[in-house]
Amino acid sequence: MKIILSYGLGVDSTAILLRWLLEPGTRWFDLSDLVVVTAQTGDEWVETGYLVEQHIYPLLAHHGVRTVQASRAGPRQKNGIVVHDDTTHPILCLTSAPGAYRLSDELLSVATIPQSGGVRKCSLKFKGWVLDQVIAQIVGDDEFVHVVGFEANEARRMLQDMPLGLPARIPSYPLIECGWDRADAERYILDKLGVKWPKSACVQCPFAFSLAEGRERTIPRYLANPYEALLGLTMEHLAVAVNPRQGLLAGEQLYDLIASHPDSGPLLELFERRLNRLPWAVYDVRRAMGAKPGDAMARGQTYRSLELLVEGTRADVLARLDRAAHLLGREVETDGRHHRVWLRTRNLYYPCVEHALVVAPALAHDKTFKSFEKAWLAGLNGPAQLSLSF
Ligand code: SF4
Repeated sequence: MKIILSYGLGVDSTAILLRWLLEPGTRWFDLSDLVVVTAQTGDEWVETGYLVEQHIYPLLAHHGVRTVQASRAGPRQKNGIVVHDDTTHPILCLTSAPGAYRLSDELLSVATIPQSGGVRKCSLKFKGWVLDQVIAQIVGDDEFVHVVGFEANEARRMLQDMPLGLPARIPSYPLIECGWDRADAERYILDKLGVKWPKSACVQCPFAFSLAEGRERTIPRYLANPYEALLGLTMEHLAVAVNPRQGLLAGEQLYDLIASHPDSGPLLELFERRLNRLPWAVYDVRRAMGAKPGDAMARGQTYRSLELLVEGTRADVLARLDRAAHLLGREVETDGRHHRVWLRTRNLYYPCVEHALVVAPALAHDKTFKSFEKAWLAGLNGPAQLSLSF
């Protein structure tokens, strides 16, 4: 029977793998039955990939363990996956491989950031679904053991995971079985490799900022890795331009957190230079917000329409927005970094709508959500939609 390890490159699954490789008595199977599978989102920290290449892949190659890396090939399931590597002698950890459809490709194209509340849709789409496809290719209809790196204090996640994939999938949670939490796993890796293994995540992951400890860990990481910082900052800049309520820190902005660090000056200058080099656009943004059933004070489903009106340099599009504001008799709203002209503002009650012209890097595509027009009409006719309407 195949033993499939979901290898997310982080502390938990690295500790499991390392223990199996270094202490054969801790596993119940032969390494020839093991397949180590990684779903690459395309946005993992390069530093994580480097450590995997330095410490884990040489061990896997030494033992001839089959190692598979794959990504989504496009936005839709029908686009399938791309398998970057399927080898018993892994060398490169392909955190960003040609042909991969990256999570950041998707987020930039729709001018948004990963959502920090509710279900982690980005993870389900860019990790879970890819793993399912790879595993199906490896095992077909056969029974297999699926090893997942939940820690001792993640019993709730384990209980949610256990019923999935029955009857062929037999789940296994080695860290929970041996009572290891994250600190135990970190200590084990440090003891065996002399490395304080970093948290694996996408560089723009909002969950890295949910706790003060995560913020303290991540900001120095950004300052030390400007290329990755620029990706997170650019994504956030675009998302906030289109919706001022966004921000990688649950509505607050990563930019402000970085700017509060005494050593952030060079990085922010680099970011400004990068923004100036990008193509820019004026976008027309409309948002229609429904009401929760029976409660006009509670926001229900939101639909958005995004349309690129005109492209140019940053200076060009800012001048065009100024001109449009003047002709429309409106003010340009700005916080110094983002500029927009409101044509309609949202109400206190739902359904309602909002409508703005915004300038932003021209990285997003036109996109009107299904059912938008219906929701827009409902919002226009909602309770006392007013303010800046024409
Ligand atoms: S690491 Fe964060 S951003 Fe990346 S897929 Fe997981 S939840 Fe989403």
